[in-house]
Amino acid sequence: MEVQVWRADVKERVVTNEPVPKDWEHLGGRGLIARILLDEIPATCDPLGPFNKLIFAPGLLVGHAVSSCDRISIGGKSPLTGGVKESNAGGSTGLKLAHLGIKALILEGAPMEDRWWILHLSANGGRYEPADDLVGLGVYQTAQRLLDRYGPKIGIALIGPGGEMRLSAAGVLNLDKDREPSRISARGGLGAVMGAKRLKAIVIDSSGGEKPPLADPELFKAAQKQYTKELIDHPQIASYANYGTAVMTHMSDGFGGIPTRNYSSGTFEGVEKISGEAMRDLLLARGGASNPTHACMTGCTIRCSNVFGDEMGNKIVSPVEYETIGMVGANLGIDDLDAIARLNWELNDLGLDSIEIGAALGVAAEAGLMEFGDAKRAIELITEIRQGTVLGRVLGSGAAVAGRVLGVRRVPVAKGQAMAGYDPRAIKGTGVTYATSPQGADHTAGLTIRAKVNHLDPKGQMEISRISQIKMAGYDTLGVCLFGGFGFANAPGSIRDLLKGRYGWDVGDDVLQELGRETLKLERSFNRAAGFGPEDDRLPEWMTTEPLPPHYSVFDVPREDLDRVFDWT
Ligand code: SF4
Repeated sequence: MEVQVWRADVKERVVTNEPVPKDWEHLGGRGLIARILLDEIPATCDPLGPFNKLIFAPGLLVGHAVSSCDRISIGGKSPLTGGVKESNAGGSTGLKLAHLGIKALILEGAPMEDRWWILHLSANGGRYEPADDLVGLGVYQTAQRLLDRYGPKIGIALIGPGGEMRLSAAGVLNLDKDREPSRISARGGLGAVMGAKRLKAIVIDSSGGEKPPLADPELFKAAQKQYTKELIDHPQIASYANYGTAVMTHMSDGFGGIPTRNYSSGTFEGVEKISGEAMRDLLLARGGASNPTHACMTGCTIRCSNVFGDEMGNKIVSPVEYETIGMVGANLGIDDLDAIARLNWELNDLGLDSIEIGAALGVAAEAGLMEFGDAKRAIELITEIRQGTVLGRVLGSGAAVAGRVLGVRRVPVAKGQAMAGYDPRAIKGTGVTYATSPQGADHTAGLTIRAKVNHLDPKGQMEISRISQIKMAGYDTLGVCLFGGFGFANAPGSIRDLLKGRYGWDVGDDVLQELGRETLKLERSFNRAAGFGPEDDRLPEWMTTEPLPPHYSVFDVPREDLDRVFDWT
């Protein structure tokens, strides 16, 4: 199957295919999105207008079920930050698009009418079908109807009511390997961009497709074997299999960096109740649908995901991740895993980013709209979003808007996007990432918590963040899950050989860094054209003056260091 670029014009409701431009061939995922943004999208355009595009790009390694290497990158100009946005997710979307030979799917234009559509993709091409019966439905009901209509083997990328309302905290959900719409490209409001195109869902039928061709199957298989072995043998993998990303709960609290009651403390007195260890014990004791170890995509040997069931063994939600525990748990003073799981379900169903909404609710609590620790009130506020009330729309527009409307100064954002579960005053390298990433505050852009350094010392944090940001931009371009990095770190040359085996490219051992550097350079170029400058690469002023207990530290990495992170761009 020929690898091509597919374009879906939502105004004319046509789908066309074209050859991959030469300059795009060596990129995938995040890097390709940045390239397309620069080539095709006016940087100053309205993110919800006709000139913005929503791009789906599988990473370079996607298509062969190499463990944890089938991620889909979704991107465009962000309605939340006003800059470049790429948000990647696991699940089946990447694999199925790659099997149809889709290098990039570009949604473009603006509809002429208010009607909602499904975009159906298969080996026969693309077509639009009415989505009238799906309007206003949450993602769980929508996904089930689509599975009933098109059969159990499809992939789906879809939005919830949040995206329909074009809220800046809306994401795009993808089916996991068990057909649950649980893997969210959450950050930056891309669900609102899809909503602006009036697409409720993209259905991918890859039944007539095939795995992408391999230039050197022997080399590819050998590299895959080496990488998988190192991944399985890595000591961290057992920890992620047992506790998932929730293993970070204790770690973040231990460093004094867990966001607590709207970022007013770095330790949470209820941490034992919401830790990864507590969640594992609870899920094992409950049995039934509960499962502390679950894979989001076919072939993942790490299985950091989970299924959270209630006391009767019925599923509440899958998965519960650390960043959600941090932001709708500790950040709201909530120490009850069941309550966190139910909040998580509500936010998923609405198609909203739990990090952004957790931050917005923290701001709302500080403004007196809820008591910290009151999970019932948190659900009521989320119901306001579902009902589309003015307050709900304010909260659904993210923490920065909520802070401005409610008159709260302690708003944890950078470039307008909420910080995740790591306070940058306690983990300063991650603070450098939050401040300088072209993506806005995003832990996946370069988390530094595992670096063996004094995280409170401002010295040297710039270098750690830079290394991490380059690496993550590289992995996001390859379509590799963050945790796949454990395997690649111990299997030198395997990325080189996987790329050589897949494409026949003669790349060097530093190809990960090369891809990362190029991606960041492209993203910075787009942001500069959109009007961003050095003063945007900063954390909010209050974080430089308000000491964070228990270490009473402020974010004090010098501005000169922040300005040197991307000295090659
Ligand atoms: S490690 Fe976790 S997020 Fe990564 S591919 Fe596996 S289940 Fe998905």
